[in-house]
Amino acid sequence: MKKGKVFVISGPSGVGKGTLCHELMRKYPSLAQTTVSVTTRAPRPGETEGKHYYFRSEAEFDKMLKEGLFLETVDKFTHRYGTLFSEVEQVLDGGKNVILEIEMIGGANVKKHIPEAVLIFILPPTLEALTARITGRGSETESEIRLRQAQVEKEFDQAAPYEYFVVNDVLDDAVENVKAIIVAEGLKDALSDVKQNYFGRD
Ligand code: ADP
Ligand code: 5GP
Repeated sequence: MKKGKVFVISGPSGVGKGTLCHELMRKYPSLAQTTVSVTTRAPRPGETEGKHYYFRSEAEFDKMLKEGLFLETVDKFTHRYGTLFSEVEQVLDGGKNVILEIEMIGGANVKKHIPEAVLIFILPPTLEALTARITGRGSETESEIRLRQAQVEKEFDQAAPYEYFVVNDVLDDAVENVKAIIVAEGLKDALSDVKQNYFGRD
């Protein structure tokens, strides 16, 4: 079976990554699948265990780390986050593309382990729009918002390893652009897929 590819989606907090991925999956369910990460932060209202994250204590996270269960981990905003190998492999083995909605340090680490991973950076139309979105979401405290805003310029400076830049202005346009990237990247393997089918070799 043809294996899927790994796509990393990163961008500043509040830019709309979660919204975009959710809409992409809703519109094109067979295109790709997102994974569920582990985090030590508390669930926000409406977030559920196993759907948005696996919510774990620091000690549990440490244990999983020692057991080698993570493809990558990061400490961010005083919390820890990690992508499980098992989540990624399950999707790839099913022949589907996988979308990792993770921050940039994680993105760079995924690229190190999986060089063929494709890195996509989501940009806000303006800085003002970004501030309005993060404030409007209403899920962080004032000090958490300030912490996240202070990161934005740094994140833009570190975005060079990313290969695609998608502006999330009109949500549906951003969804279509990400879809176009995933489809185009899949076509890069078309010759080898056809040769496998016809001749049983690359
Ligand atoms: P992230 O996952 O990047 O932190 P979210 O997906 O939680 O961001 O989005 C932050 C807020 O911005 C949410 O309230 C969401 O509804 C809103 N949002 C997302 N995309 C758009 C868009 N294209 N236009 C306007 N608001 C948006
Ligand atoms: P939030 O707390 O808003 O859900 O996520 C904060 C940041 O952590 C976001 O940029 C999100 O993409 C990132 N993130 C979520 N899960 C992971 C993960 O498993 N690994 C890494 N590196 N970042 C993650």
